[in-house]
Amino acid sequence: MWKVSDSEMLYGLDRWGQNYFKILESGELAVGIEELGGKFAPILPMINHLGTKALKTPIILRFPQILKDRIKILATSFENSICEFEYKNQYHGVFPMKVNHRREVVTQIHGTNSNRPYGLEVGSKAEAMAALCLEPSDNSMFIFNGYKDDTFLKLAFLSASLNRTSIIIIEELSEIHRIIALSNQTGVKPLLGLRCRLYSRGSGRWEESGGEYSKFGLSVADILTAIKKLKDADMIDCLTMLHFHLGSQITDIRKIQKAVREATRVYCKVRADHAKVTHLNIGGGLGVDYDGSRTSFESSANYSVREYTNSVVYTIKEICDEEGVSHPVIVSESGRAITAYHAMLVVDVKSIKKVPCSADEVKVEPTDTRGTLELHDLFENISAKNYREYYHDGLVLKEELTNLFNLGHLSLEERAKGETLFWGICKRASGYARETKFSTEEFQILWRRLTDRYLCNFSIFQSVPDNWAIDNLFPILPIHRLNQQPGAIGTLADITCDSDGKIDKFIDLHHTKRTLELHPIEKDEPYYLGFFLIGAYQDILGDFHNLFGQANEAMVSLDGSGGWEIKDIIKGSSISDMLTMMNYDVEEMMDSLANKIRDSAEEHNNPEVWEKQMLDLIKGTLQNHTYLDRDRKE
Ligand SMILES: *Cc1c(COP(=O)(O)O)cnc(C)c1O
Repeated sequence: MWKVSDSEMLYGLDRWGQNYFKILESGELAVGIEELGGKFAPILPMINHLGTKALKTPIILRFPQILKDRIKILATSFENSICEFEYKNQYHGVFPMKVNHRREVVTQIHGTNSNRPYGLEVGSKAEAMAALCLEPSDNSMFIFNGYKDDTFLKLAFLSASLNRTSIIIIEELSEIHRIIALSNQTGVKPLLGLRCRLYSRGSGRWEESGGEYSKFGLSVADILTAIKKLKDADMIDCLTMLHFHLGSQITDIRKIQKAVREATRVYCKVRADHAKVTHLNIGGGLGVDYDGSRTSFESSANYSVREYTNSVVYTIKEICDEEGVSHPVIVSESGRAITAYHAMLVVDVKSIKKVPCSADEVKVEPTDTRGTLELHDLFENISAKNYREYYHDGLVLKEELTNLFNLGHLSLEERAKGETLFWGICKRASGYARETKFSTEEFQILWRRLTDRYLCNFSIFQSVPDNWAIDNLFPILPIHRLNQQPGAIGTLADITCDSDGKIDKFIDLHHTKRTLELHPIEKDEPYYLGFFLIGAYQDILGDFHNLFGQANEAMVSLDGSGGWEIKDIIKGSSISDMLTMMNYDVEEMMDSLANKIRDSAEEHNNPEVWEKQMLDLIKGTLQNHTYLDRDRKE
């Protein structure tokens, strides 16, 4: 008997889910926040409800309460560490906008609550404009980071004039002259920070963001020059913050400790050099354990939030005490760890592609070619003892058959017979290989090629681009039927015309899995898969391959007793949106197409009916979403 706890184990829910997801006895996946109340809300009814509002899958569900919960967890963890180590200053969180620019996300985070101000970090003029338009909550901080032209600097000055705590992080020495000039012109003395280029590096995929050769920040020599220039311009009192960022998804806690140690030393020395710096900004990098393995694997992190805050607070305190410098305000810019959990994508499976397997039905005649007869013989007699040899013989025979066909010696029927037998041999061979303890790579690849492919109605390039681009793994599992044993195994394919549009690597506790346990699908029965932890970076990195546009979205609020409410619906891109984005004049196109339809209507039996049908078709299509509709039942 398969239990929901078996599914929980299989998909590793308790390891990566941070208690936001669980499986109900009904087999439905549910979402909730323990603090809100113990009862979780099933996801399938949300999808069904949105379907009645013409909002079809693929759908991104956002849970703003999870965002708030993440912020609370990070901030409380810092507060607890501060308390535990008797650290004599406070923590201030800042959200880097580049991690998720969606208005719904940024306003949620920024407007969180006033007794725990949460700031914003911007790295471009567009981000700065968005941030400038937001009402700052009391005391929250705006950080202007990244490469800056004069307009960007002027926006930062404007922010300072609007009575916000705005800090300009100096990324390059050349920015200092322009800041000094602008300050002399306007009389505004903005708060400044220096971005340090540390010797320490991160770990994992973004290791190159840190270290001596990183493209970001000031070397120690640059820092000394910067301080001197600020002193000369009588602006040294503006220098408030020292900042570093090691790169995203630091998988190893020791790298963080090392970097914080180095940065704190720099902080103490700078402070001793008559600069009144008060804030140490440790950037982002707090990892998300996507596969739940708690290791330094690229899609994981070998530490918890509490270990992270303990490490940071303890290290800064230890070094400041040693250097006799008072403890700075700790600022961190976690993006990934704040936003990853709040969003999930639900897709429907359109069909299952199976490798043909009807070798049993093949009848051979003595008149068949030698190759076909031999393939048949291999198929009939393959066993656990000889599968390796028989499979290799099969490969040779298939090659021979193809050659004969190309030379014109073989009919289509004969070729089909031979190929069907060959696939039968492959299936049996890979089955035997699976049963042995040590199957070679050759047979593992064969096994993968022969597994079913679940065709999912979405674009990897739009919705989980990091899976395609950098092999980042996201947890994937069905959102229903989890009280049934998943009796099938498969890989996933998306609906783009790109052979990269596939997923054949999945999270696993020990390694990665090349196939995913799934359910067989009865005809016409909808089957939904959820992609989890997609709230960081995916929204903005997604692209429009094949003109598949943004998926539909819904903001869902949970009540803690199993109930939920759709707070907002954001329709995904329509076909018209996509064409307009690619610079087509949609109205003009429609007029010209409609004229062509009118001109050729006469050729049809019932011209008026046909013309109306075709005009309805093209008008309707323009407003349609870019993904596949559900097919009519046969
Ligand atoms: C990208 C970035 C961050 C966010 O990093 P996460 O790993 O998402 O927390 C923070 N600070 C700076 C300067 C960044 O460029």
